Amino acid sequence: MTATTTTTGPEPSASPGLPEPVGDPPLLEVRNLTVTYGGTVPAVRGVDLRVEAGQKLGIAGESGCGKSTLALALLRLLPATAKLTGEILLDGEDVLTMKWGRLRAVRWAGASIVFQGAMHSLNAVHRVGDQIAEPILLHSTKTTPAAARKRAGELLEQVGLPAARAQAYPHELSGGQRQRVMIAMALACDPRLIIADEPTTALDVMIQAQILRLIEQLVADQDVGLIMISHDLAVLADTCDRLSVMYAGRVVEEGPARQVYAEARHPYGRALSAAFPRIGDPASRRAPRGLPGDPPDPAALPGGCTFHPRCPVALDSCATEDQELREAGGERRAACVLVNAPAADDSRSTS
Ligand code: ADP
Ligand code: MG
Repeated sequence: MTATTTTTGPEPSASPGLPEPVGDPPLLEVRNLTVTYGGTVPAVRGVDLRVEAGQKLGIAGESGCGKSTLALALLRLLPATAKLTGEILLDGEDVLTMKWGRLRAVRWAGASIVFQGAMHSLNAVHRVGDQIAEPILLHSTKTTPAAARKRAGELLEQVGLPAARAQAYPHELSGGQRQRVMIAMALACDPRLIIADEPTTALDVMIQAQILRLIEQLVADQDVGLIMISHDLAVLADTCDRLSVMYAGRVVEEGPARQVYAEARHPYGRALSAAFPRIGDPASRRAPRGLPGDPPDPAALPGGCTFHPRCPVALDSCATEDQELREAGGERRAACVLVNAPAADDSRSTS
């Protein structure tokens, strides 16, 4: 993979549309990130993100919108066929131009990922305690195997499992327990940012709620940043501070999580929130309104606004005119021609 940009200093200038940075660089700032597979599949197209320490950012979107590609790109974990451009500034340091040794140090200790589907991510033939101890040993030459195993036991307790479960093999654990092990692994090297890609999708609703509360608690206790990825906008609205909604590789809407969920400005955001009603909310007991069709194949994107073929409110011009994110009032932005001009009292308004 290649990066076309060079490392910038600790106080980079703001990219278009993002507020000017004040003081220290944010924990994570992604600028104009693109990922293209095999030269022809633009899976991520010009994404900007920002996460501060202690902040929880949700990334929503249907399957195929580029969420996992984005997550893997943040730590350069994509296959060699993926070409990356843009900037991924972790504490002001560009991940895309890091030397290999530095990148190894940043993985796990700077940022770590909890993948979807813990059964596939854990090694079936190793005890889970040894798997948690492995990154600890990799990252600290001073730590003895016995100390790493002790730390693995402590991490298991931190995620609500008895330390003795370190002796178990993955198949001896339930789906929820395996996902707790994955979270313990992600915490092993005290990362500053945790990226959780559909961490609860394979779990039943009760266990899903327990795991989400655990992640929330860990983020609150340790003042780390969190990026939580899900197709379920209701889950993200409950867990996160801010939300970015992705469609066809782009962020099409962003803002405070509850506002985006309750009253999305982009028709795709509205369709997603209607598809995932809040559990226990009597007002949303009606059958969710489905969104017809599928997201486009990134190898054959429609012209104009990529959402226009599925959009219930598209204008004729949407078939030819692409839309950038624009101010949508308050701290909100949306990439839709129908988004109203910001309210007069919006101090950040630009038009
Ligand atoms: P999501 O996580 O939102 O479901 P993905 O990031 O997995 O989306 O996929 C985005 C798009 O990139 C999809 O069209 C998918 O087929 C394509 N894609 C994902 N991984 C690869 C790969 N290794 N090579 C080529 N295309 C890929
Ligand atoms: Mg995915």
